[in-house]
This record gives sequence, structure tokens and C-alpha cells, in this order.
Amino acid sequence: MKPARVVGMVLGLGIMALAVGAFFSGEPASVTTQGRVVTIIVGLMGFLMFVNNLSGSASKGGAKAQPEAASAPPFDARPCPSCGKGVSSDHRFCPYCGTAVRGACPSCGKDVKSEFNVCPYCGTQLK
Ligand SMILES: [Zn+2]
Ligand SMILES: [Zn+2]
Repeated sequence: MKPARVVGMVLGLGIMALAVGAFFSGEPASVTTQGRVVTIIVGLMGFLMFVNNLSGSASKGGAKAQPEAASAPPFDARPCPSCGKGVSSDHRFCPYCGTAVRGACPSCGKDVKSEFNVCPYCGTQLK
């Protein structure tokens, strides 16, 4: 049970007790019709507060709070050589300007990064 709900229940009970006490206290303020109506309303508010917190804890207590939406995994971005925007390392073309950020080695055909000077697979000069 959440502490806030317990506090709400205790507060509701306290307000109820105060209202009931005022109702039967015989104080001049409470013996008038107006005073009685006010104490009854205040008592009802306290009762509702108590019930609301009690039922709320019963129905929602078991439900797990929605976990914070998992933030997307860090985008493995490197700047596009043409436009400078972030491009994922597994992208072959910049999604913003279409520049090939990774191409195939003209000799062996394997994927090589645009910043490579030499193909790491066959040693062909790429630039
Ligand atoms: Zn680009
Ligand atoms: Zn190669």
C-alpha cells in the first residue's frame, strides 16, 4: 500500500472523527442546523476520502505501475560524410541525403565503411 494512500485514509478518518466530535460536542456552532449540515458534509468528505483511498489501494495496489517506456537503444550513429547527420553504423546509405556511407569493396564485394582507405578483407586500396 502506498504511503500516500495510508495518509489519505488516516486523514479521512481524522476528518470524520473531528466532524463526529463536533456534531456531538454541543458547541454553539454545531447545534445550529447550519453547523450540523457542515459537520455532516465534512464527515462525509472524510468518509469518502477514507473509502476512496481504501478501495483505490485494493484495486490498484496489485497492478504494477507501468515501467517507464524503455528508451530506444542508443542509436549507433556516426556523422554522414556528406550532410553530417547521424547515420547508424549498419546503414549503407545516409537516410537523410542518400550518400553511400558504406559500400562494397570493388574487389571482394564485402561491406566496407566509407572511411576505410583499404579493404580490411582483401587489402584493396579503396581511395
Ligand atoms: Zn547524409
Ligand atoms: Zn575487399
